[in-house]
Amino acid sequence: MLEGKAALVTGSTSGIGFGIANHLAGKGANIMLSGFGDPNAIAAIQDDLSKQYGVTVAYSGADLSDPAAVADLMAEMESTFGGADILVNNAGIQHVAPVEEMPVEKWDAIIAINLSASFHTIRAAVPQMRRKRWGRIINLASAHALVASPYKSAYVAAKHGIAGLTKTVALEVAQENITCNAVCPGYVMTDLVRGQITDTAKARGISEKQVIEDVMLAAQPTKKFVSIEEVSEVVGFLCKDAAASVTGAILPVDGGWSAQ
Ligand code: NAD
Repeated sequence: MLEGKAALVTGSTSGIGFGIANHLAGKGANIMLSGFGDPNAIAAIQDDLSKQYGVTVAYSGADLSDPAAVADLMAEMESTFGGADILVNNAGIQHVAPVEEMPVEKWDAIIAINLSASFHTIRAAVPQMRRKRWGRIINLASAHALVASPYKSAYVAAKHGIAGLTKTVALEVAQENITCNAVCPGYVMTDLVRGQITDTAKARGISEKQVIEDVMLAAQPTKKFVSIEEVSEVVGFLCKDAAASVTGAILPVDGGWSAQ
C-alpha cells in the first residue's frame, strides 16, 4: 500500500512513534526513525524493521528542540529518500506541575519539541511533498488538544497550538493532494505516561494507583488505556489514498474522553 513512499516519524525510538513506524513499514514504507535512546537498541530496531518488512530504515538522532538540527534532518530526508512523502510529527515530552511552579525551561522545551518542531518539519516537508504531488502530514496531538487538565499548562498549550497549525496547513495545501491532520489519543501506557503517574501523584498528593484510576481512566469513558496499535491504525488510514478528503481534521482516539 505504501511501497516506495518515505515516512519520517519523529520520536520513533519508543512508545507510540515506534508503533507507527512499525505499522507504516509493515505497509511497505521506507522509514526515517528519529529520537533518542541507546545506540545498540536503535540499531536493532533498524535491523528488525528492515529485515521483517524489506524496507529501508534510516535513523537520525537530531534534537528536535533545535531548529538547525530539524533543518539538517529534513535535508537528510531529501538526500536519503528524495524527500518525505509522509511526515508524522510525534516526538513529545511532558512536565506536570502547577502553573506557578512550572519551570520556565520546561515550558520552553515543551513548546519547542511539542509545537515548534512540527512547524519546522512541516515548513521543510511541504515543498518536498509538493514536488511529489502527494503528501500526508499527521501530527500526534492529544485529547489535550481539545480539552485541558490542571497542571499541564505547557503541554495543553502546545497541543492546542498543534490543532491550529494542523488546520492552517490543511487549508494551504488543500488543492495539492497533500493532507494534514491531527490524531488525538487519550492515555496510552508509554514511558511518557509512566513518568506522569509519578509526577501527578506528587502534584495532587495522591497515590499512583489513584492517579491511574481516579485521574487518567476517570477521564476515559471506556475505562481502558488506548493501545499503540489503535493509534497506529488511524495513522495508517490517514496515509491511504482513500483518506484524501480527510484533511484539517482533529481526530480523537480517546475512548470518548473529549465527548464529555
Ligand atoms: P515516549 O516518551 O514513549 O516517546 C517520545 C519520543 O520522542 C521518544 O522517541 C523520544 O526519544 C523522542 N524525543 C523526545 N524529545 C526529543 C527531542 N528533543 N528530539 C528528538 N526526539 C525527542 O512518548 P509517547 O507517549 O509515545 O508520546 C508520543 C507522542 O504522543 C507525544 O507527542 C505525546 O504528546 C503524544 N501523546 C501521548 C499520549 C500518551 O498517553 N502516551 C497521549 C496523547 C498524546
